[in-house]
Amino acid sequence: EEETPLQIRLDELGKQLSIAALIIVGIVFVTALINQTDPGQLFSQPLVYFDNFKEQITEVFIIAVSLAIAAVPEGLPAVVTITLALGMREMVKRHALIRRLSSVETLGSASVICSDKTGTLTQNEMTAVRMWCDGETFEITGDGYKPEGRFIHEGDRLDFSEHPAVTTTLWAGLLANDALLEESGRNEGQPTYRMVGDPTEGALVVAAAKAALRREEMERTFPRVAENPFDSARKVMSTLHSVKEATPESPFAMGDDIPRFALCVKGAPDVVLSGCSHIQRLNDESAPLSPELRQKVLDANASLSREALRVLAVAYRVFDHQPEPMTPETVEHDLIFIGLIGLIDPARPEVKPAIQHARGASIRTVMITGDFPDTARAIAQNIGLLQSGHTVLPGAALDKMTEAEVREAVQTTDVFARVSPQHKVMIVDALRKTGAVAAMTGDGVNDAPALKRADIGVAMGITGTDVAKESADMVLTDDNYASIVAAVEQGRIIYSNIRKFVFFLLSSNVAEIMIIFLATLAGVPTPLTAIQLLWLNLITDGAPALALAMEKGDPDVMTHPPRPRDESIVNRSMQLGIVIQTITQTGAVLGAFMLGLLWHLKAGTAMPPDANPLLFIIRYDWRGVDVQTAETMAFVTLSLCELFRAYTVRSERASLFTIGVFSNRYMQYAVGLSLVLLFLVVNVPFLQPIFNTHFLSLTEWSIVVGLSLVPALSEEITKAYLRWRDAQTA
Ligand code: ADP
Ligand code: MG
Repeated sequence: EEETPLQIRLDELGKQLSIAALIIVGIVFVTALINQTDPGQLFSQPLVYFDNFKEQITEVFIIAVSLAIAAVPEGLPAVVTITLALGMREMVKRHALIRRLSSVETLGSASVICSDKTGTLTQNEMTAVRMWCDGETFEITGDGYKPEGRFIHEGDRLDFSEHPAVTTTLWAGLLANDALLEESGRNEGQPTYRMVGDPTEGALVVAAAKAALRREEMERTFPRVAENPFDSARKVMSTLHSVKEATPESPFAMGDDIPRFALCVKGAPDVVLSGCSHIQRLNDESAPLSPELRQKVLDANASLSREALRVLAVAYRVFDHQPEPMTPETVEHDLIFIGLIGLIDPARPEVKPAIQHARGASIRTVMITGDFPDTARAIAQNIGLLQSGHTVLPGAALDKMTEAEVREAVQTTDVFARVSPQHKVMIVDALRKTGAVAAMTGDGVNDAPALKRADIGVAMGITGTDVAKESADMVLTDDNYASIVAAVEQGRIIYSNIRKFVFFLLSSNVAEIMIIFLATLAGVPTPLTAIQLLWLNLITDGAPALALAMEKGDPDVMTHPPRPRDESIVNRSMQLGIVIQTITQTGAVLGAFMLGLLWHLKAGTAMPPDANPLLFIIRYDWRGVDVQTAETMAFVTLSLCELFRAYTVRSERASLFTIGVFSNRYMQYAVGLSLVLLFLVVNVPFLQPIFNTHFLSLTEWSIVVGLSLVPALSEEITKAYLRWRDAQTA
């Protein structure tokens, strides 16, 4: 698995830190050497100087090593990987299976979600509710897949014998069909049903069943001999049937002529109609399709579409001999148009709030569908997807545009209708060129290129093909648009959590460097030893950093716009935070250390009462002096600074009291564990020599605790300032 962009950027950051550290290490090394030895001796007594040098070099070298350790955030790579992995686990719970680690962070910056309508925004439980044959409209009652319902014509129950064209429509729709209605069990004595196959076709099977027509029986009389399968680019399918035991009364009979083969065609109305030369009248006779009649069909299609219905047209044609070859070009013409069927596909109830949720986070949702613009527009309005001033565009319009025009169009088009898979690629490419971070859904084999090109390719887990899943970055296990929004939210939370502990770890590293750097420049003993620094970076900082990865997310995760794709993880407000933390932590630690040194001097050597303590400490010859208590005070101060601050970094902007001090129980475990270990390291006699620590008195403890609160307090003040500034710019 290759590294994610975030990991690459963190690696770069690590390298920059190492280079900066190396330079500082060099300066410190030379300064320390000058402080520890007497450079004047180099010329007067070179031999003595080199003797001293040999003695001192180890100590100076250890200081340099400490500094190098201090500079590198050892815990960071481990915590980042763990966080991304935990994030993937959290997303699976919300029905989003992430196939690439890097998608977790890309999701967090998504700005446009292009979603298929059918099945993703809608339930994909189609029910035929309306039919149109030769100028007459028929209603179909009943709901779901239950094959119980009535055909209503002008308010009354339909007499099928009076309108044979209705039966013919159902018949042809049933033959050009691969779906099966099965009894799946019984509920309170009533049979329950299950649909196997494409829900669009399933709706036709159910509608036919309401007229007592069964596919199994039909297939016996009219066995299928060849087919041109449905394809969402062509938007039609046709099947060829041999006519076995037909009578002059059965469909497809032309008077007394019983044909040998019948071709049934169903698909998008405009496409089917373009292959038609005749129309079946209500009395079952066919008439040439005049331009006026053609227009009548198109008008009927438009009015069904405006009611948010997905419309299928059905047509047929007969042959005396089997047509060879059976391709769309050779057979799908000279058809006889029979009827239109309007299907309702209710929106998923959770979609409307999810679209609002995304919009609040400045994420636009774009509907992609093969259906008619009117159908798409009606549904888009129902679910609140179409924003005012934005448009609905048929996919074919894109073909006529220049690249620049497409780029212009995708920014204000919320609905793309009559889309074929190659349009999805155009849409994704254009969106990305405008700087958007685009998610695109897909299920078919043809969708693979668009899924690959999208920043986040999203495949359907239930209806998706394996090819689509293989090309996707994320698979929705419930095929639901709302799960994409949930995944984006989770992606933002994860990224924000990563930023929190990067800030947490980095600022403590920079502070450590400054502490040692300043102490060395001042010529006082080194406040923190190498092993203490390592302990701080791995244990004291490591445990709370892991707890930060478990944060549930700031209250404002879904109210601000997505972060820019190329924004550095160390953004402006984090830089400000690091500067403030470095100043306050360095101040607190050096303050504690100096106090320790001062007490040491007062206890040991007499300091003249009128001397300036700071200058006295700096000028004092510390060589060979043991300052364990002062060092312990520095170590404990820095440890406590980190542990207090771990609470305030739990939110990037909100105050600790808004998110609740104890709302992340992992933080209590982490801080508790770190505290216990700190006490052990300071107070267990046989650990003291290893960690270079010493018992602290009660006064020393209170000084240390007081100073340790300063960075946390300044952090809260910084956040209040950032909130105030945000409010000013908003
Ligand atoms: P969607 O993006 O809504 O799934 P499709 O490309 O599947 O769009 O369908 C586009 C149009 O093709 C539909 O409006 C309908 O008229 C027609 N259609 C859909 N499914 C079938 C099918 N199984 N057989 C014939 N025509 C279909
Ligand atoms: Mg489809």
